[in-house]
Amino acid sequence: MDLKSKLREVPDFPKEGINFIDITTVLQDAEALKQCIDQMTQEVKSFGDFDMIVGPESRGFIFGTPIAYTLGKGFAPIRKKGKLPYKTIGVEYELEYGTDTLEMHIDAIKKGDKVVIVDDLLATGGTTQSNIKLVEQLGGEVVGIVYFIELSFLNGREKLKGYEVKSIVQY
Ligand code: IMP
Repeated sequence: MDLKSKLREVPDFPKEGINFIDITTVLQDAEALKQCIDQMTQEVKSFGDFDMIVGPESRGFIFGTPIAYTLGKGFAPIRKKGKLPYKTIGVEYELEYGTDTLEMHIDAIKKGDKVVIVDDLLATGGTTQSNIKLVEQLGGEVVGIVYFIELSFLNGREKLKGYEVKSIVQY
């Protein structure tokens, strides 16, 4: 199945000029969802052995957890400031106006853990850069990054030089 044909493009969301790729049309289609998770799982496996999957709020949870379950690994969430209940570390990241903070539990991964980051979409790469910082501050090693979708025209890979990056659908 051509997964791209199952994705919905929503013009001018969340604001004018942005063509938003809506993944919900894939999630709600049983066959497309299965193919998507299966293909992403294969890409994760291509990095070789690893210990944990890490995924950012909120769509990283949707894709990361079933892949972790399938491969018999744990899943650790990255969340916006103030959402995680236990002790956290945080990194600030730039928004269009101002900054925000992403957090991880201090014991979410162990020192030396090999980590694969999973998210729905690579745009500018800023989100993933912050995710990498968190994992590395906790002593983890990012062995690969897998996205469902990559907006190639935004050159997000430039920010992720030195890391293994895979995606299923490209624009
Ligand atoms: P980046 O930090 O610029 O790479 O943006 C990636 C993040 O923004 C991902 O976590 C996505 O969930 C979200 N995002 C940006 N554009 C889209 C889109 O068109 N569809 C779905 N999510 C998007």
